Amino acid sequence: MRKHAGQAKKLFKRREVLASGLPALAEIVRGSLVTRYRRCGKPTCHCAKGRGHGPAHYLVVTLKPGKTEQILLSQEMLPVAQQFLHNYKRWWAAVEKVSAVNRRLLRLRVAALREWRPTPCE
Ligand SMILES: [Zn+2]
Repeated sequence: MRKHAGQAKKLFKRREVLASGLPALAEIVRGSLVTRYRRCGKPTCHCAKGRGHGPAHYLVVTLKPGKTEQILLSQEMLPVAQQFLHNYKRWWAAVEKVSAVNRRLLRLRVAALREWRPTPCE
């Protein structure tokens, strides 16, 4: 029981560390950045042979299978979108790690209760 309490204490501390220091939840966005260069179609334009016009940066989000939303980002909004995407990844990583800690805590609690509780035959 004592061993479980020590492990649980460490896990609570780890969970606390993982859950703190996250960016603001209000500043997240799911999706990915896509950079495109387009060809205007004029045969004499430089884009006909070289790289197309651009770059144009888009935030692309899959809403459901086969349905995406694309937002053309201005130069000013590009770093904001990058930060929000980064924040989203940090939140997801934290969610997965806290979830793993909580699974261990649940297992510990079950094990501790099993040790403590007298069996029906006793
Ligand atoms: Zn062109």
